Amino acid sequence: MDGVPADRAACEDADRLDPLAKYREQFLVDEAGPIYLDGNSLGRQPVAARAAVATVLSEWRRDLVGGWERWISLGARIGDRVGTLVGAARGQVALSDSTSVNLYKLAVAALDARGDRAVILGDANDFPTVRYVLQGIARREGHRLRLLDSDPAEGLDPAAVRQALDDDVALVCLSGVNYRSGAVLDLAEVTAAAHDAGALTLFDLSHAAGAVPLQLGTAGADLATGCTYKYLNAGPGSPAWLYVRKGLQRELRQPIWGWWGQRDQFAMGPTYDPEQGIERFLVGTPSILGLVAVAAGIEPLLEATMPALWAKAQRLVALLARRVEERLVPLGARLASPTDPARRGGHLAVAHPQAYNASRLLVERGLVVPDFRQPDVLRLAPVPLYTSFTEVYDAVERVATVLADPAVRRPQPKGRTT
Ligand SMILES: *Cc1c(COP(=O)(O)O)cnc(C)c1O
Repeated sequence: MDGVPADRAACEDADRLDPLAKYREQFLVDEAGPIYLDGNSLGRQPVAARAAVATVLSEWRRDLVGGWERWISLGARIGDRVGTLVGAARGQVALSDSTSVNLYKLAVAALDARGDRAVILGDANDFPTVRYVLQGIARREGHRLRLLDSDPAEGLDPAAVRQALDDDVALVCLSGVNYRSGAVLDLAEVTAAAHDAGALTLFDLSHAAGAVPLQLGTAGADLATGCTYKYLNAGPGSPAWLYVRKGLQRELRQPIWGWWGQRDQFAMGPTYDPEQGIERFLVGTPSILGLVAVAAGIEPLLEATMPALWAKAQRLVALLARRVEERLVPLGARLASPTDPARRGGHLAVAHPQAYNASRLLVERGLVVPDFRQPDVLRLAPVPLYTSFTEVYDAVERVATVLADPAVRRPQPKGRTT
């Protein structure tokens, strides 16, 4: 592929010429530390996060409850900023709750709107919380869950989605980028198929937002949600975002009737009468400390722009894929991501029988922070805002060293690797 550095010297050249290299300084990076390839699990800390959080702490101390005059409108403003990042026009994105809770709220709202239909279509290889939330809803609401058996490496074929649709499907709920393989789903194609069959779409974009270009508006997507602590760098447990297409907002009712969704919230009226817009998908008081961290996390992405980030991400991933083929495949590894580069998102999966032990050794020896996914996958995510070409090159060399070390065959202690 064009623009992929051929050797380490070429990686150094690519870093010198990289227009995005300057963004690394906007993150707190220990240059002597391991190479961090786990930004798809928890993004690095932006320098600006500390000041943003410290400001809210000062406001809280100084203004006490009066701080709400400023804080109350923060969510809508930051929601629109996230909207810009995912290709949504104003008034369609809100920050609230966790991705899991938003999946529940949006899925139930969609099922209520398609009350005569009994089937939810999902992916058997989707992220666990997506499957669990859908299982719970199906059990409570008497729906049937139809799970497609996608290829674990290649991902879900939109043609298979189209084939599984019939006039009993109420909702298609899928991830935009598979959390394991990094396989990308064509949201426009799936949405067109779902709409042809009279179903609504709900996309989990936790591994997609900030990693791949998204145009929720032009894709026609109905509903979406995603977390902010992966590629959006907002820190552990930061609030999730949700998207509801403008034309659907008044028709849908989410199941958790909280006062933050209420029209004229402070009138404290006797009955629930929700807002007309995106605010009706809110429930309760948001974490203001979390919200300002979202703002700090997404600003570098907006400034760098998604097209520029995506151009670099594709080169980083292509370099990584090539080095995996050259260095790790001879050591028994296998790329467990789509063969077609055009179907790859921001991270790659590398399968190896000793993947777990390798991940432990890489972290223990301070070499690389990957992450491990059962049963045998190392996920490697170069993040264009702060990962260099040279780091990708060196990381694969370090993984190769560990895979070639007899210690990788010795049992390693159990536990979370990252
Ligand atoms: C990370 C991730 C989540 C996280 O959900 P939480 O409710 O924030 O724990 C959900 N879905 C997908 C696809 C993810 O990758």
